[in-house]
Amino acid sequence: MSGAVLLERERLTSGTTWHTAGLLWQLRPSDVEVELLAHTRRVVSRELEEETGLHTGWIQNGGLFIASNRQRLDEYKRLMSLGKAYGVESHVLSPAETKTLYPLMNVDDLYGTLYVPHDGTMDPAGTCSTLARAASARGAQVIENCPVTGIRVWTDDFGVRRVAGVETQHGSIQTPCVVNCAGVWASAVGRMAGVKVPLVAMHHAYVVTERIEGIQNMPNVRDHDASVYLRLQGDALSVGGYEANPIFWEEAVKSRTGAAGGLCLKTSTVKGCTVRSDDLRRA
Ligand SMILES: Cc1cc2nc3c(=O)[nH]c(=O)nc-3n(C[C@H](O)[C@H](O)[C@H](O)COP(=O)(O)OP(=O)(O)OC[C@H]3O[C@@H](n4cnc5c(N)ncnc54)[C@H](O)[C@@H]3O)c2cc1C
Repeated sequence: MSGAVLLERERLTSGTTWHTAGLLWQLRPSDVEVELLAHTRRVVSRELEEETGLHTGWIQNGGLFIASNRQRLDEYKRLMSLGKAYGVESHVLSPAETKTLYPLMNVDDLYGTLYVPHDGTMDPAGTCSTLARAASARGAQVIENCPVTGIRVWTDDFGVRRVAGVETQHGSIQTPCVVNCAGVWASAVGRMAGVKVPLVAMHHAYVVTERIEGIQNMPNVRDHDASVYLRLQGDALSVGGYEANPIFWEEAVKSRTGAAGGLCLKTSTVKGCTVRSDDLRRA
């Protein structure tokens, strides 16, 4: 890692990461994703802490997928088999077993659920600062408040464009290699090198509930048919929905510095992004 430099326009996590739900579901339909998620879980729940002595804030409260029709339950049974192949413990539960696990849940119209006890919730700030600490200890440099303003490129004898360096407000860095990890701003950074990044930003709405008695330690919940997730947040829930007809951004707004920091929209500007009351009928 020696020689690697991370340039951050503002502060670490000030982009999308600071307000992520941080849900880590280990079982996904693609085996590549299952392996990637297993790796992430290992790093966040164990290896980073062993390496740095710092807790990343990982909470292993489990994950619960809701099946409100037979096809969805069949899909979850397949996910359970996939999990077995990769050593991910999971259980398909009946509505009654789900009620025992999650007494607050309305299970009347459920076909069943998929319970993954070692799923959990990542803390964005804790994970990022621990990652930065581990990288710095291995020789990397993290430079905040240093926007990348340009990427110098040249064309080799075969007509292939190559990176020569990175420009910032504070000087330039010569390098043949740039990793574009600017999130929703990746297209803008790509353009600096004449590269089109096929990435589209869209609005996303979530609400945080008041305190709910008895919700502590319950698993996170994902209902794929209702396109909604319920993230445990202490003794409350953060509820987010994926809109069927999302609003796209031409260009992501610039993150703003301030007390809250980062990328955020005022509720009044999130027109059309709604978490329907129907989405909340489970809790
Ligand atoms: C409400 C919500 C819930 C989510 N829930 C989940 C979830 O449960 N599970 C999950 O896996 N994902 C979730 N996501 C998605 C996840 O948060 C993002 O995929 C992730 O945070 C993106 O991280 P990133 O580092 O790629 O981008 P960012 O965190 O946006 O980081 C990009 C950084 O690049 C910097 N930057 C931009 N331009 C420049 C420049 N010119 N020079 C230098 N720096 C620059 C920005 O300041 C920013 O800090 C959720 C997102 C939201 C909004």
